[in-house]
Amino acid sequence: MANELPLISPDKFHDECAVFGIYGHKEAANLAYLGLYALQHRGQEASGIVSNDGEQFYVEKGQGLVADIFSQQALARLPGTMAIGHNRYSTAGGAGLKNVQPLSVNFAFGNLAVAHNGNLINATMLRSELEAYGAIFQSTSDTEVIIHLIAHSRADTLLDRVIDSLTQVRGAFSVVLMTDQGIVAARDPHGFRPLCLGRFRDAWIVASESCAFDLLDAEYVREIEPGELVVLDHQGVTSYKPFAQTKPAMCVFEYVYFARPDSRIFGGKAVYSIRKAFGRQLAQESRVDADIVIPVPDSGVPAALGYSEGSGFPFETGLIRNHYVGRTFIEPEQSIRHFGVKVKLNAVPEVLEGKRVVVVDDSLVRGTTSRKIVKMLRHAGAKEVHMRISSPPIVSPCFYGIDTPTKKELIASSHTTEEIRKYITADSLAYLSLDGMVKAAPGTPGQYCDACFTEQYPISFTRAEELQLGLFEAPR
Ligand code: AMP
Repeated sequence: MANELPLISPDKFHDECAVFGIYGHKEAANLAYLGLYALQHRGQEASGIVSNDGEQFYVEKGQGLVADIFSQQALARLPGTMAIGHNRYSTAGGAGLKNVQPLSVNFAFGNLAVAHNGNLINATMLRSELEAYGAIFQSTSDTEVIIHLIAHSRADTLLDRVIDSLTQVRGAFSVVLMTDQGIVAARDPHGFRPLCLGRFRDAWIVASESCAFDLLDAEYVREIEPGELVVLDHQGVTSYKPFAQTKPAMCVFEYVYFARPDSRIFGGKAVYSIRKAFGRQLAQESRVDADIVIPVPDSGVPAALGYSEGSGFPFETGLIRNHYVGRTFIEPEQSIRHFGVKVKLNAVPEVLEGKRVVVVDDSLVRGTTSRKIVKMLRHAGAKEVHMRISSPPIVSPCFYGIDTPTKKELIASSHTTEEIRKYITADSLAYLSLDGMVKAAPGTPGQYCDACFTEQYPISFTRAEELQLGLFEAPR
């Protein structure tokens, strides 16, 4: 996580992050480094590792990419057989080293470090209450609320205090905590964000996505279940179900865009095959006569392959991506974003010249990217451009940890598909239907959070939270 308090307005949610934890390996920090490296796609703004050698905690943090922050010297300053780490997603501003996770403290129960992915919707309220009781916050991150709740708890054991704290926060958390004795990993009862358990020889690992295990040659054991808390310590893995159980609401947008395609999340198969199934379903729902199918790379590739399979039209690479440019969302200003698409993608005229082109992207948010792409493809000689989106129209912002702009900026919240088609200047535009997405996703239909497509938020908001989140306008 990385939500900045008290700027808890919808356009300040930039909370996609990666968490990692390892217990029981003498090279814990080096393995955490590799894990964070594999999870770089979940956050590129800042990173941190905290290790524990049984005597004390060691902290290394920095802004930028994992490979730039952790030099050999930095990793050598992280001794111990357990470590936790965090990658932070880029924000529009006000980041600052003080918010870089893991956050670590020393208090009555010893040392404690916390790394959090997700977004807490009642963090501002809890922070005000805690401050009223004298708590002094060191960061503007909502994750610090978890620490203060642990410190203020009346429970006797540290584990009970952690449970007490996590019972009071509402929203999304896949959280990894390190104590003097071991590592605690927990997932909120809805299980919004992923969290997996792995094993590397005698060591236990938790990570946001299974791709972190692959780099270490570690074994994927299982998903940590929604509402489950596990303790990794000298006894191995102990599982608890301390939270009131509720219907799972795992983020379907992880499948659409966010998770790495080679990861297994939510206990299912590789994200790649799910994205491909979205593409195949899309081809069934919105076939159009065309000569080629091209993806918007990289995130549109599996869905475009699926569309090609489903439609029978050949898959081509009509757009080349410059891999050294960050994700477009990192650009805070609209003016830079326009420019950003061009910097990131270039068309291949030899592929496109005179062709009727189906171009597949995973999602359409503001429409800025699609509009640029359609122009680029026509400029490169495409005869027709048919935009296909492998997810439904995004109509409402996410409050559980995905970076989405305000409702106003979500083009589908106020425009019909035909109006959007005109805006992006495509010959046709079609989205994957909600039913189609649910059908193509694994598991049972009700187990996902699809609030960004439906405005049906799994956690109800209090009136105060609605006001704060901009969901409700106070009467003037
Ligand atoms: P837009 O130009 O606002 O319509 O953005 C659409 C593009 O942004 C698509 O190519 C998506 O792959 C990408 N995208 C969607 N959601 C996100 C996100 N949360 N962070 C970064 N990029 C995203």
